[in-house]
Amino acid sequence: MNPFRADLHCHSHFSDGTDSPEDLIHLAIELGLSGLSITDHDTLEAYETASELANRLHFPLLPGIEFSASHRGEPVHILGYAFSVSNTYIQALCQRHIKRRSERNLRILQKLKRLGIQISQEELENIQIHPQEATHKIKRSLGRPHIALLLIQKGVVSSIKEAFSKYLGEGKAAFDPGERITVEETIDCIHQAQGFAVIAHPQLIVKSSILRDLLKKPFDGLEAYYARISPQEEARYIKMAEERQWIITGGSDYHGSVKPQNSLGTSWVNQETFDKLYKHYSELVD
Ligand code: AMP
Ligand code: FE
Ligand code: FE
Ligand code: ZN
Repeated sequence: MNPFRADLHCHSHFSDGTDSPEDLIHLAIELGLSGLSITDHDTLEAYETASELANRLHFPLLPGIEFSASHRGEPVHILGYAFSVSNTYIQALCQRHIKRRSERNLRILQKLKRLGIQISQEELENIQIHPQEATHKIKRSLGRPHIALLLIQKGVVSSIKEAFSKYLGEGKAAFDPGERITVEETIDCIHQAQGFAVIAHPQLIVKSSILRDLLKKPFDGLEAYYARISPQEEARYIKMAEERQWIITGGSDYHGSVKPQNSLGTSWVNQETFDKLYKHYSELVD
């Protein structure tokens, strides 16, 4: 029998991943995973089709999302889990992010234009990642990774990494922070929706003072299991979570073919953690 593994962090083509939500569920089953959460950036669009398929296949799919937030000007990613996907607080925050993203994307395109690089709003909205997407337009949560792909398609850069290091990364020539939605507002919203708020990939938080601040906020968990972090770092995060009696979560941050180094199922949570979250969710929607 396969040991229990549930991957609580992955992206579909409704944000900056390349797989459809259905592909993610089929892949999770193929890999022998016992549970999954699709955590797109600032959108729950994946659940429109994923929930139905998961129900039909009796595959435990835990509602999740990865919200972009800001603390003292620094970006912070917050995972939300185990709420109802139709919850009005969560839906309202997603709407606010749609507006934030569209305004910010326009400003990034304007900055690129000033640098002599032409990408239209229409090109961004109609971005095609797979040839088979030709017939239907996907309601994507658009952001810098999509602009990076267009920069590659236009031959301006040769990789997503180069697009970030030359143009789109924090402080670079075409960077724009966008409306800053605070960590506190985001945690509040997840709590209003009776979900769990979790600090995502703490090792990607550059300034240690930011993580120190976050550890004092009313989070419910910390993502300690993540690809390519050292056993020492992982142990440090586990200790931080345990001291606060927070849940310890984990996931691959799989994005499909745009980030081939992160394979689905390479980081996961055990049955005890998954059951705790899934039970909470099941009781909520019963
Ligand atoms: P956005 O949500 O538009 O701010 O874009 C942030 C997303 O871009 C992150 O969640 C990552 O998936 C991706 N990203 C951020 N920095 C980099 C980088 N240096 N190289 C590649 N992808 C990145
Ligand atoms: Fe991403
Ligand atoms: Fe993230
Ligand atoms: Zn992610």
